[in-house]
Amino acid sequence: MSVFEPEVVLEIILNSLHPSKRTVFTAKWRASLEWEASIVEYVGYMYDLTKVHGNSKKTVPPTLPPGIPYYGPRFIPPTYSHLSKRENSPRIKPELAYLRPLNVVHPFYYGDLKKCPQCGSIDVLWDSWTNTGHCRLHGIRTEESAIGYQLRCKPCEKRALAQPAVASGPDNSKAVQHCFVTTSAIFWDKWEHWELPRGIPVFTHRCGVTRELFDLIIEMRPSMTSGGLAENIRRPSSMNRAIIHSSYSELTWVLTGRVYSIDNTFKASAKATIVDGKNQGCTNIMKGGILTCIDENNCIDSWRLCQSQANAELEELLRGIYNRHVSLDIPMPDMFVADNCCHVRNAIQKIFPGAHVCLDAVYEKWAKHGDVWSRAAAKVHADQLEHVKKGCLERTREDLACDGSRIEGSHKSWNSIMRSYASGIEVFTSLGHDLTLRRNLRMAASILLSNTSPAHLNHMKAFAASILGSHHVRLANATAKLWNTL
Ligand SMILES: [Zn+2]
Ligand SMILES: [Zn+2]
Repeated sequence: MSVFEPEVVLEIILNSLHPSKRTVFTAKWRASLEWEASIVEYVGYMYDLTKVHGNSKKTVPPTLPPGIPYYGPRFIPPTYSHLSKRENSPRIKPELAYLRPLNVVHPFYYGDLKKCPQCGSIDVLWDSWTNTGHCRLHGIRTEESAIGYQLRCKPCEKRALAQPAVASGPDNSKAVQHCFVTTSAIFWDKWEHWELPRGIPVFTHRCGVTRELFDLIIEMRPSMTSGGLAENIRRPSSMNRAIIHSSYSELTWVLTGRVYSIDNTFKASAKATIVDGKNQGCTNIMKGGILTCIDENNCIDSWRLCQSQANAELEELLRGIYNRHVSLDIPMPDMFVADNCCHVRNAIQKIFPGAHVCLDAVYEKWAKHGDVWSRAAAKVHADQLEHVKKGCLERTREDLACDGSRIEGSHKSWNSIMRSYASGIEVFTSLGHDLTLRRNLRMAASILLSNTSPAHLNHMKAFAASILGSHHVRLANATAKLWNTL
């Protein structure tokens, strides 16, 4: 992405040229008064400098001289601010404001496109710029345009010449095409969308879209309506992922606990899928579900999507919590509660040696109501009895809340994300961070208001106080910084 100022680029190129060539070059450049035409000149010039000429014996192409700036392939028109720095009283041309960013699809930027899109032959020649000018592209924030270069295929040209003249009439079979523009749908017809070189817009028969917008459409599912897509663009959670992620991690960093409940939920994570282009299906690669770690204050101290149910992923998550306790100089948690206690015990005790791992007591609660037990539940009950024998029901901290019903409550929130938003993995992660952030802030604010809280929560209370309960962590931080400078 480069802001392209024609006069500046001309100046730079002239400096690099031999004085005898400057007049000719300036005349050629100035002949193209339009912004886009200057870009075409510029790219053409760079291409000539770096390509291997047809009858040259060299195989290694020459490199771009250090005096020539490399701009593109996406060119942004200069803004008023650029003009005002170049001239004291800028000559404002309103038409400049209507210029769209220009995407150049040219062999200078994408070297390995030299293949006939129709017959696959490599006996092809880069011919010239398209003679129909730029085409329009739909973009996320603004409409854009694209300009392409033509590829001429020699075998196809021969076939076209051999074809009887009548065949090219409008009501006969189609004439063989032998010239292909890089901004046409035919050129990209045989490419899968993931094969496209990064940054190239996606061209279809009706219109083109920028790569950014295309990625967003894929993420939001192609079946979504255009209205729904527009709503997702406006909603900050999909666009400002970076802000959400960092806000999430800033708060999470001060969350610590004495007793943790560890849990997996699978239903919601089934949403975080990858679309398979060929079979039009969705693949769920997060088979391990959502792993959450809830402390005794009901805050989600950490969560992640897991690819499997292997303990390695749990260990990674616990390592983060461990580091946090070390950095804040807070005693390590005493007890972990899980409904697969015997499966995760080793992983937990590897990170937190000496921690007590016990069974989620929610099953005990159910056992009191005889009627919830079905045939399948009887098997579960037998399994639970095994845990009882191993002492998994023993509690080292009876004073702190650690029952599984709170976890079941958090499942409700996770599942509501799944129901209300169309999303792929990326957006799901953002939504998950957003959910966790808001939930934790609510808990942190209520702890702040209650005066009787243990010392290890002081960091969290300080954090909640500093951002005044707002979940716009970054905004609150910026405001506080500004306030401090006053
Ligand atoms: Zn061909
Ligand atoms: Zn057990």
